[in-house]
Amino acid sequence: MSKVIFKCILVTIVMSASCVVITNAIRDAIQAPDGLTHYVPIVCLLLIAPPIIFLCLRQSEKLRRTLTELNGVMAELEDTHAKLLEESLRDNMTGLLNRETFFSRMDELRRQGPGSLLIVDADHFKKINDTHGHYTGDAALIAIAHCIKRYVREGDCAGRIGGEEFAIFLGIADDTEVSAVAESIRAEVSDFELKSAEGAQVPLSVRIGGVAGVAAGTIKEHFRAADRRLYEAKRRGRNCVSVKSPVKNTA
Ligand code: GH3
Ligand code: MG
Ligand code: MG
Repeated sequence: MSKVIFKCILVTIVMSASCVVITNAIRDAIQAPDGLTHYVPIVCLLLIAPPIIFLCLRQSEKLRRTLTELNGVMAELEDTHAKLLEESLRDNMTGLLNRETFFSRMDELRRQGPGSLLIVDADHFKKINDTHGHYTGDAALIAIAHCIKRYVREGDCAGRIGGEEFAIFLGIADDTEVSAVAESIRAEVSDFELKSAEGAQVPLSVRIGGVAGVAAGTIKEHFRAADRRLYEAKRRGRNCVSVKSPVKNTA
């Protein structure tokens, strides 16, 4: 602030001095009668004020433009930061949440009300890699994630929790409804037309185990219960769904 005051005083001194010099110069030059000398300061002002006002306005316009540019850069930076943050929460290959984020998102969601947990495991995945190569294996994982995403709604979340394992938390508690969603995902994966790089048809299927209507209890307990259902689905020959509510589980 003191710098501004100092500059203001400096400009005033320069203006006053210029005024005196110009006034005297005009007066001497035109030898004006006394009446006309009243107009000399006006002429003087007209000569000095416009360039100074022009300089001030140009400076403030420059400042305004710089500020607008800066705001644009800040907005872009915030956008990039948000995108990077979002990417850091996701599995690079499938775009689903990564393991840690899935667990914390599931924890948040289940506090809002009862939901259901599904674990999806790709059947004979090692065989896909061994037969068609790792690249086709990756494509198979992307295909499974694509099928899962189609059934994830507001209030749900889905993540890749291991190599060829996925988890879904649904904001619905009814086991019939949950089984229907799981069955739709299973069917969609099984119908998916995946081709290897050589153009061969790649058989793709998943088994899904789940618990419906989970509210109390730890996430670990729910995973253990869903895992038991997943094992049951494997025992039944894979490419199938096994969902139970915790109450029916213990019965
Ligand atoms: P099961 O039907 O009993 O589930 O057998 P599986 O072969 O699916 O299961 P297993 O645990 O024997 O093998 C999983 C394979 O998944 C082994 C591993 O190489 C593969 N895998 C894990 N992560 C990736 C990945 O990111 N890309 C690819 N292509 N393969 C992966
Ligand atoms: Mg597995
Ligand atoms: Mg598997």
